[in-house]
Amino acid sequence: MKIFLFILIYFSLQLSAIDLISLRGNAVQGGLAICELDSSVEKLFLDHKPVPISNTSAIIGFDRDEKLKHKLTIVLKNGEMYTSVFYIKKKDYSIQRIDNIEEQYVEQPHDQQLIERISSEASKLLKSKNKIYKNKNLYIEDFHFPLDSREITGYFGTQRILNGIHKKPHNGLDIAAPSGTEIIAMTTGVVKLTGDYFYNGRFVLLDHGSGLSSIYIHLSSISVEVGDYILAGGKIGEVGSTGRSSGNHLHWGVGWRQKRIDPEQITNMEDTFLKIIRE
Ligand SMILES: [Zn+2]
Repeated sequence: MKIFLFILIYFSLQLSAIDLISLRGNAVQGGLAICELDSSVEKLFLDHKPVPISNTSAIIGFDRDEKLKHKLTIVLKNGEMYTSVFYIKKKDYSIQRIDNIEEQYVEQPHDQQLIERISSEASKLLKSKNKIYKNKNLYIEDFHFPLDSREITGYFGTQRILNGIHKKPHNGLDIAAPSGTEIIAMTTGVVKLTGDYFYNGRFVLLDHGSGLSSIYIHLSSISVEVGDYILAGGKIGEVGSTGRSSGNHLHWGVGWRQKRIDPEQITNMEDTFLKIIRE
């Protein structure tokens, strides 16, 4: 009888969680999750901060160094509130030391004109990203790896020490491929910014809505324009080695709001179970 009761309670809990929210993604540092919400849900909060809902979908993401304990709050249209406290997994990042790298790839520029150029490019990129964070629409469909090649030469999160100098952790995935290889959009989105910048070289920044962005840098050519609506898997450009790059490769970066997302996590999503408790 006790066992029967346990099973009954377990399944009724599970049923209410699935009824209100289902999650597909990875509860890990650098992970991203797609939430499908019941139509009775009015508001969603992650750690007490509102998460925009587009129809019945929403996105949540976790930074490279995100804290492990989180709280998801759901408020229904009838005012009922449900919460789920959950933990994400810690990710260990490797340290990459390269000692014989040519100075041109390491040193900070000293030329005043170049410094001004770099700073104006950085602020343009930041402005576009801030607009993406505010876009409440959501365009995502299925997710794609942007290249046919899977020859990964740089992982997300790696702490790089170049010629003894500590650099910022690597915030994307580097994939080697010959110049001219086709690059496709990781999912549906709108082209927010393109350019030919000192560090990025030729690049494309996509807005997938609800704060989700992706960037493709060091391209040899760009085949889209700002404002274009690109379907998941649509061509956006070709692999190259423009900007500060030491060989033909794609640097693929993903962000959710100000958080750095591991691109490898999003082509590898699983159903995640959340236990939800009525407040
Ligand atoms: Zn890179």
